[in-house]
Amino acid sequence: MSDALDLYDLALLLSYERFTLEPRFRHTKLVDMAVAASPFQTLQPEIAEWNDPDPLKRARRWGYVYRDFSTSSMLYMSKTPVRDLPSNMLLDPHPPYLQLPTAAEKETAFYQPRALYSARESVVLIRYLLDLFDASAEVRIRTPRGETLYARAQDLRTRTYTLSKLRSFVLSLIMPHSMSACLDIDIVALGDTKSDPVEHSVLIFQQARASSLDDPRPIVLDLSSIQFGTLGRGLGGRALFALEAQDAYDTRLRSVADEVVVLPSASPPNEREEPRHDWLRDVAAHVKARYDRRATEGWCGHCGAPGTALSLCARCGVARFCSREHQLAAWPMHKLFCVPRQKKEKETN
Ligand SMILES: [Zn+2]
Ligand SMILES: [Zn+2]
Repeated sequence: MSDALDLYDLALLLSYERFTLEPRFRHTKLVDMAVAASPFQTLQPEIAEWNDPDPLKRARRWGYVYRDFSTSSMLYMSKTPVRDLPSNMLLDPHPPYLQLPTAAEKETAFYQPRALYSARESVVLIRYLLDLFDASAEVRIRTPRGETLYARAQDLRTRTYTLSKLRSFVLSLIMPHSMSACLDIDIVALGDTKSDPVEHSVLIFQQARASSLDDPRPIVLDLSSIQFGTLGRGLGGRALFALEAQDAYDTRLRSVADEVVVLPSASPPNEREEPRHDWLRDVAAHVKARYDRRATEGWCGHCGAPGTALSLCARCGVARFCSREHQLAAWPMHKLFCVPRQKKEKETN
């Protein structure tokens, strides 16, 4: 069973490779943010739901304005491709009106707009990735309940929900670098648009088991769960994606929208043929290459970042983290699988 593909590790890598290279957000900087009742400082979007007269609804909205700097000479001059990261998404100097109080909120501001309406892409992405491995491969699923379950990669299914009456409204705007081209503003909104329910797709292993004698348990993987903000984050609001038992996931989804319906299972449309998914094939290839090099090159157990300066968990000496902050964020999950070094040595002796 040691050769099984670890789904938690793969999800970390998928999340990192995909969100730091997302084409629409390449080299954009966060220039304004609206949280709850405080509106944008730089513009007033003419969107009915955003400007709802009901103050209760206005209190449940949040939004981001990004500006595109991809055409600026500064970035073109740099030969090494700089990834977009929460640590470099702010303008320097930082606009005085833009306050990002906590590290977790800053992280949400980075991932949430990139994840808006990307659930379908997430599903396609993981299928591309599993195509690169052996179809009969076994997948190891570590859950936030501390279980280690196994499933077959080929038993993965898509599950689609429709969410109506979302409890919050999220708006993301990407402004072109040149102010004279302001009409080209790119708007994505997730929220109570009254008529259209939001479709949300996840991947599900119906038959995950701890051992061959065990009853199967359905497990959900949702790489885009953070599109629902903190409520969508897995692991009690700490993780960047959700990988958990289906009952726990469904309960959380019901805190996001008043009406949650599971669509009858149907095989997804011919998503593998769509050319707009080419960049996702590259992401899948990057993830495969990094996973194959795992014995020599580690990654941060919270964000999936690579690096030579990652610090080792002192307890197990195996898990790595890019910062103390990320080590703390990952701890509720990691502590369930962190085996102290002395204990391991005793077991092997
Ligand atoms: Zn990290
Ligand atoms: Zn550890």
